[in-house]
Amino acid sequence: MLGLYVHIPFCVRRCPYCDFAIHIGAKDDLVTEYVAMLRRELENTLAAHAQSLPEQPLTSIFFGGGTPTFLSAATLAELLQTIHDTIAVAPDAEISIEANPDRLEEDKLTALHQAGWNRLSLGVQSFDDAALKRLGRTHNAQQGEAVFDGARRAGFDNISLDLIYALPGQSRASWHNTLERTVQLEPEHVSCYALTIEEGTPFAKRAERGHLIPVEDDNQAVLMQDAQEILQAAGLLRYEVSNYARPGRECQHNLNYWRGGNYLACGCGAHGHLNGQRWWNERAAPRYVQLMQEKNSARVGEETLTPRQRLSEIVMLGLRLREGFSLPATSQRLHLDARHELNGELQDLTQRGILLEDAGVVRLAPAAIPVADAVAARLIP
Ligand code: SF4
Repeated sequence: MLGLYVHIPFCVRRCPYCDFAIHIGAKDDLVTEYVAMLRRELENTLAAHAQSLPEQPLTSIFFGGGTPTFLSAATLAELLQTIHDTIAVAPDAEISIEANPDRLEEDKLTALHQAGWNRLSLGVQSFDDAALKRLGRTHNAQQGEAVFDGARRAGFDNISLDLIYALPGQSRASWHNTLERTVQLEPEHVSCYALTIEEGTPFAKRAERGHLIPVEDDNQAVLMQDAQEILQAAGLLRYEVSNYARPGRECQHNLNYWRGGNYLACGCGAHGHLNGQRWWNERAAPRYVQLMQEKNSARVGEETLTPRQRLSEIVMLGLRLREGFSLPATSQRLHLDARHELNGELQDLTQRGILLEDAGVVRLAPAAIPVADAVAARLIP
C-alpha cells in the first residue's frame, strides 16, 4: 500500500485541548499562498515518487487538519485533481476528508463527493451539548446529526464519526447517550479517543491550576469498555484499540500507518515514511509557505530507522490492532529474527495469557486491550 496525507492547517478557532499543527485566523493571502505552495509540494513529491516507482499507485489519500473543509470545495477539488494529474491512483483507493459539523452545507458535501472523496471523517466528538461546550467546540449535537444526514444524501456511503470520551465532569450516562445516538445514525466507522491533556494547551493550564481534573485511568477503562459493548452490539467491531468499523469498512489509510507501511505526506507539520526513512515538514503554516517559496521544500527533519526501531514501532502499533502482527512477515521485511529479538518477554507474556500467538501471529488477549501500550512497552526490544 502507498498512502498520501495532505495537511490543511486552518481552523476557525482553537479548541482548548488541541495541539495539532493548525493556524487560526488565517487571512485570505495566507490561505491562497498556502494552497499554491501545497500544490507545488504535491507536484514535486508525487512526480518524484511516480518517476522512481511508476508501478506503485496511491492506495489511499487522506486530507486531514486542522479543518480541510475550511477551504472551498472548488479549491479542495483542484488539489485532488493535482494529485490525479501527477501520480496514478488505484481505482479502489480510499479517499478521505476530515470535516467538522459547523459551516458544512449539503451542497459542499455533494461537491466533495462528486470531486472524488469517498469517505468522510466527521468530528462530532459528542452528542452532549454541555460536553461540546466544555470542549470549546463550535457546533452542537443537532448540527452533528444534521450534517451526518446531509452527507448521506450527498452520496457518502462510508462515514466515520470521531468521538472523545473521558471528559472532565462528563457522566457515564452522557457517554452512553452519545454512543446510542451514534449507533442510531448507523455510521460505517467510529473512532473513540480518550481526552488527553496535551502540554501547552489551555486545558493543560487549567489542569495545572486545579480547575480541570483528568478522569482516572480506571474510570477511562470503564468508558472504553462501554463503547466496545455498545458499538459491537450495533455491528461495529473493534479493529484497533480506539477504532471500530463494520466489516470491510476499516480505515485503509490508518491501517497502513499502523502496519508500518509507506506513505507520502504534504503540507505543514506532515510526516512521511518510506521503507524506514521518515521525514517531516515545518509545522507553522506561514513558515511552511516561506520555505516552499524560497527553497522549494519545507522539509525540516528526517531520520533513518534501524531495523530494531522499526520492529519496536511494528510491535507498538501491531498490538493495538485486532489482527496483531506477524513474526515471520516482520522478520522477512526487516531482515532480522523478530522472535529472537522479542524472545524473553514474548514467551513470558504469552505464557501468562496476556498475548496470544497463532501460526506466528501475535495479538493482545482481549482482556489486556485497556493496557495495550503498557504491554507493548514491555515487549519492545
Ligand atoms: S477543530 Fe480539530 S484541529 Fe481544529 S482546533 Fe479543534 S480539535 Fe484542533
